[in-house]
Formats: sequence, structure tokens, C-alpha cells
Amino acid sequence: MGHPVLRTRARELERAELKQPSMQKLIDDMIDTMHEYHGVGLAAPQIHEGVRIFVAAIAPQDEEPLAPGDEPMVFINPVITPLGIDLVDDWEGCLSIPDLRGRVPRAREIQVTAMDRHGGKIDVTSHDFPARVIQHETDHLDGVLFLDRMRTFETLSFLEEYARYWSKDRD
Ligand SMILES: [Zn+2]
Repeated sequence: MGHPVLRTRARELERAELKQPSMQKLIDDMIDTMHEYHGVGLAAPQIHEGVRIFVAAIAPQDEEPLAPGDEPMVFINPVITPLGIDLVDDWEGCLSIPDLRGRVPRAREIQVTAMDRHGGKIDVTSHDFPARVIQHETDHLDGVLFLDRMRTFETLSFLEEYARYWSKDRD
């Protein structure tokens, strides 16, 4: 946090750009970085690349996290449409804001369209945890951090205090 690229709207990618080896390498690097830091998602601006890509270790329609060997999903130029008006508050953290957790309201259910890493079409609905990850990561592409989305900072916690006072099951 503090690097200007994290606060800048990332640019859209053309489908043809995905054929460039450098772009495929960037995606592989993002997946490696996400795994290295035990994240569930990572957006390109978090490694200082201002392009609209995020990777996420989720199955969009499934609350369960991916099995360790499963390929993470790659979303390019994602567009989110909330379905319904339900908002849910839950805990979020961010690799760009280490050691903090806070409760953030997000749409419970969304539709997301995007390209995959080969330019194929993604069009899925998602709810609850994976929908939260998709909203958090898409925010990064618009220069928005989870702190911006909190209703108040009353739940903002260091990891140690989160684990001690707030954590029930997740983490
Ligand atoms: Zn983040």
C-alpha cells in the first residue's frame, strides 16, 4: 500500500495481447506469487502491473476452496453485475495491506463476465465467499482497496487480535 499503481485504474487488455509470451509469463508469475503468500486471489496491480488481470484459487459457483493441485482461475477484463440487492458483511484481508483484517460489505450474488488466459469467454454467477473474492480483486483493477469499502473502521484488526478476539472458523 502506498505504491501509486495500487490507486490507479488498470487498463483493459486486447485478446491478441494474451498471445504474447510476456503476458502468459505475467499470469504464471501472479499464480506463483499468490501461492507463495498463501493468498486466495491476486490482482496485477499488486505486483505493480497496471493491467486488468486477477487470479483466484476459487471455483466461482462453489463455497469450497480449490484443492491444492487445481489450477487457479484467471480473469481478464472482468465485469461484475450484482444480482439482487443483498449485501453481506464478512472479513477480508489483502496481500497489499499485510497483517490487517476488517469486515467489508459485498454483494451476496454477482454475475461476472471476463476472458480467460487464452481469450475464451467466462460468464458465471457466483455467491458468498467466491463472489467476495471476485469483488475484492476486481476492485484492485479500479484502484480500490478493501479499506475503502468498510462501513466503519471499528472492526479493523491486526491479525493477532483478529485471531484472538474475532476469528471463529475461517483462517
Ligand atoms: Zn487485495
